[in-house]
Amino acid sequence: MLSRLRTTWSLRPCVSVCRWAHTKERGRPLMLSPRTNKGMAFSLKERQVLGIHGLLPPKVETQEIQALRFQNNLKKMTDPLEKYIYLMGIQERNERLFYRVLMEDIDELMPIVYTPTVGLACMHYGHIFRRPKGLFISILDKGHIRSILDNWSENDVSAVVVTDGERILGLGDLGVYGMGIPVGKLCLYTACAGIRPEKCLPVVIDVGTDNETLLADPLYMGLYQKRDRSQAYDDLIDEFMEAVVDKYGQDTLIQFEDFGNHNASRILRKYREKYCTFNDDIQGTAAVALAGLMAAQRVIGKPITAHRLLFLGAGEAAVGIANLIVMAMMEEGMNPDEARKRIWMYDKHGLLVKDRQEEMFPNQEPFVHDSPGNIGSFLDAVNTIEPTAIIGVSGAGRLFTHDVIKSMGALNERPIIFALSNPTTKAECTAEDAYTLTDGRCLFASGSPFDPVTLSDGRVITPGQGNNAYIFPGVALAVILSGVRHISDTVFLEAAKTLAAQLTDKDLEDGRLYPPLSKIREVSLQMAVKVVEYVYSKGMAFRYPEPIDKNGFVRATVWNTDYDSLLPETYDWPDVSFGPKTK
Ligand code: NAD
Repeated sequence: MLSRLRTTWSLRPCVSVCRWAHTKERGRPLMLSPRTNKGMAFSLKERQVLGIHGLLPPKVETQEIQALRFQNNLKKMTDPLEKYIYLMGIQERNERLFYRVLMEDIDELMPIVYTPTVGLACMHYGHIFRRPKGLFISILDKGHIRSILDNWSENDVSAVVVTDGERILGLGDLGVYGMGIPVGKLCLYTACAGIRPEKCLPVVIDVGTDNETLLADPLYMGLYQKRDRSQAYDDLIDEFMEAVVDKYGQDTLIQFEDFGNHNASRILRKYREKYCTFNDDIQGTAAVALAGLMAAQRVIGKPITAHRLLFLGAGEAAVGIANLIVMAMMEEGMNPDEARKRIWMYDKHGLLVKDRQEEMFPNQEPFVHDSPGNIGSFLDAVNTIEPTAIIGVSGAGRLFTHDVIKSMGALNERPIIFALSNPTTKAECTAEDAYTLTDGRCLFASGSPFDPVTLSDGRVITPGQGNNAYIFPGVALAVILSGVRHISDTVFLEAAKTLAAQLTDKDLEDGRLYPPLSKIREVSLQMAVKVVEYVYSKGMAFRYPEPIDKNGFVRATVWNTDYDSLLPETYDWPDVSFGPKTK
């Protein structure tokens, strides 16, 4: 009996100390990992048990106070790129705090982590680089992509955003510097839709760059070679897609971003029935633009079938938007040929008309019409076609001239003018020009944000920002939660309707065609709920049993920024004193 007691007594402290020592070793890595780091919010107990006591200032801070420090510093900064670097620095150190700062000021900070500032950040990526984020796969890795995925620290990924850097925003080929885009998009997955950050994987595929400035820059970080446009490119993308589903499962969402024109639509066609994938530049843009038109309809009271639309630009974005508008018109009972006849396109060579000498692409074919006469300039096209809406997606700067805007004002009581090209400098016109030259009658939206405009009569109009972020996070959340295998265009039509329906009458009175960015989290969650309802009702969802309460189902998954306790509950804690030492 005595010997048994002795054994028990002598063993207990030994086990405790060993465990504690092990836990102490874990403390520093927990501080160094942005996923677990809490900075000064580590509690006193955590600091002592994890062996990091003394490595932080003595005060235990709330996350609210931590956020305040960063918010105050951000307010003092005037340079957007400086703000970007500062914010990304928080993300590298303390992920939850980063998202708290971002979410609390989303309308101010979204233009920093995403367009327009992210464009600037991509251009200067090699110069502002601090720590790598995301996964880099080069064409030299062919045959080894699956093992590269194994190097990623997370084994349970739900969403991948991938770019090959060829057409970053309106800025062209930035090669591997395009990594800023998937990183920024996935920040919005979390900030807007509450998708857990560890479930998101940003990827850049490096097949070289045709950007001579980058190839001559010693700080460039990608392959110093021209873009590989051979069969090897297609093989690499095939291998990437297979490796992703092999590692993370068949229903992993793969979002394509900023691929060059020739590849974007081709890749979408190739994979859309085989993988759970979408292209945001085509489908997300289409949905957000259509939502703007639907909101304008609510103001004008004119059905979508009564519109005649003229696009400036006939690329990826224009064709994507036009196709979704055709679907919306068809839903209103119009036949597809009639619908297509209502849509015209004008590109860098002029109006898309039959027998034109300059090259046209197969996806533009439905919007190529008989010539309406001798059209030289875009102004000629406006005056001849007499559109109710002009949509700028040319990426070529201020081509909605004063004369174009005035003509739209003369032709329509409420002209619709969308200047969607990014960044701000490439927008087809400013909000101020659009409103002042139409006496405040136009319904305006832009791709990049513009400040509210005060008219001469004192009215203040808030321009709408047709930001894809209103669409893709909510759609992504719905797709992930309901186990959709193939994302049909009808999902984006549903998303557009949901977005337009979320505007209040007051929003419309203020001139808004999109809800305020400050409400984007609620907008995204409501969109996810509607899309979940839609995909289950259409038999597109594969996750069973079907949730009865879709609203509760979606909201229960939402990630928040509260810190987790890092002390295992089952641990046999030694008795330590936590208060300040008294003499
Ligand atoms: P793209 O390269 O596929 O197409 C550009 C089109 O514009 C081409 O048809 C080209 O011929 C035409 N164009 C170029 N210069 C022109 C000129 N001087 N006059 C008339 N037409 C001209 O590019 P894209 O993917 O269609 O994107 C175009 C723009 O739309 C970019 O600036 C992009 O940032 C913007 N965009 C905005 C959103 C959004 O606001 N939500 C989404 C996607 C794309």
